[in-house]
Amino acid sequence: MAKQIQAIRGMNDCLPEQSGAWQWVENKIRDLVAAYGYQEIRTPIVESTDLFKRSIGEVTDIVEKEMYTFEDRNGDSLTLRPEGTASCVRAGNEHGLLYNQQQRLWYMGPMFRHERPQKGRYRQFHQFGVEAFGLDGPDIDVEVILMSARLWQRLGISDQVTLEINSLGSNEARARYKDALVEFLERNESSLDEDSKKRMHSNPLRVLDSKNPDVQLLLADAPDLLEYLDEESTQHFHMLCERLTQLGIEYRVNSRLVRGLDYYNRTVFEWVTDALGAQGTICAGGRYDGLVEQLGGKATPAVGFAMGLERLVLLLDALGKGEARPAVEAYLCIMGEQAQPYAMKLAETLRDHLPQLRLQTHCGGGNFKKQLKRADKSGASLALIVGEEEAQQQQVSLKYLREDRPQEQVAEAVLLPMLKQIFNHK
Ligand code: ATP
Ligand code: MG
Repeated sequence: MAKQIQAIRGMNDCLPEQSGAWQWVENKIRDLVAAYGYQEIRTPIVESTDLFKRSIGEVTDIVEKEMYTFEDRNGDSLTLRPEGTASCVRAGNEHGLLYNQQQRLWYMGPMFRHERPQKGRYRQFHQFGVEAFGLDGPDIDVEVILMSARLWQRLGISDQVTLEINSLGSNEARARYKDALVEFLERNESSLDEDSKKRMHSNPLRVLDSKNPDVQLLLADAPDLLEYLDEESTQHFHMLCERLTQLGIEYRVNSRLVRGLDYYNRTVFEWVTDALGAQGTICAGGRYDGLVEQLGGKATPAVGFAMGLERLVLLLDALGKGEARPAVEAYLCIMGEQAQPYAMKLAETLRDHLPQLRLQTHCGGGNFKKQLKRADKSGASLALIVGEEEAQQQQVSLKYLREDRPQEQVAEAVLLPMLKQIFNHK
């Protein structure tokens, strides 16, 4: 036998047994964004490398070591998108969606980062994200947070996630804070690990994000970002906190929360869970008022978030939440050649009148026992049986596969309302 080719490490197949759970989450997301009047944007998976360097920042984990970058046949440097915000802004600028306008957009799709694969961390993963442009908040900051909170509620995981928020302030305030932080880090340089030493000058805020417990211990005495905020950002942050409280959204202020991407300012937030081990952040976002201009557009305030769908599916799985609708509800058994024409026509008639019904038709012949076995394996709860006798009388036999109920024979006209009722279709 020829050697089999395997998938790329860290890039997963979503197999039929898992796709139901994914679709369940994706449908909840589609309903959610519709309920808030957001519109979908779809952008290419590949972009110019410069787009990510200029937006995410040169000295970040993503740009320094995680991007899938390659030269195409023309010698242009291209990159598989590691996240969605930069592409949204690029597309918005390119098509004039952002110029003096407000836009509330969402996207969902695969992202690529060359990280060490582990539970909840992959090289191809999927994000759902929203981006709101042209609104300077804090009302819109509240809206995107509410929206994420509503998704947890609809997925039944509200009690498993907690919200952490912080403000990074204006660029000037952050610059002042950076100076104070660098001064503190320099004083304690001997207690820092190599990574933090490297970051200390190139991107000092990222030291706050260190996963090293010793560094975190040291940081307890570091200057506090919130004390360096400018007046307007302080105001913005207070209003945000006040609204969240009024709306019953619980949160924890974490003044060491920064994000791994350079474009954020003012509001940043994360939704975290204890149920997934080390990869506990399922959603992260914030304000990025400078990015549109930085990428060549007119200065436009913006806020958004992105959530990792693998982590969400893992969490739902761990909690036994989510209900995938069976791929097959009813299975049509066809007994004998003579029954074929009537049975096939019946199946199409059912699909005409019951567009929601998930009906699989038996193919390949075989005896009753074999066909019933297939029906059972399909996951269907009902077998529709058409033999020669039924075909002649334009009738169908119903065999209930998952409940103790006698087989019955019904006329085609009775079948439609019966199926509707059995499967609870509108
Ligand atoms: P982390 O600290 O876990 O590396 P990040 O700060 O790099 O996260 P973001 O760029 O903010 O993550 O992406 C938003 C969300 O996307 C994360 O909270 C997470 O749920 C998900 N995510 C990020 N990287 C991966 C990955 N490699 N595999 C799976 N999900 C991911
Ligand atoms: Mg990361």
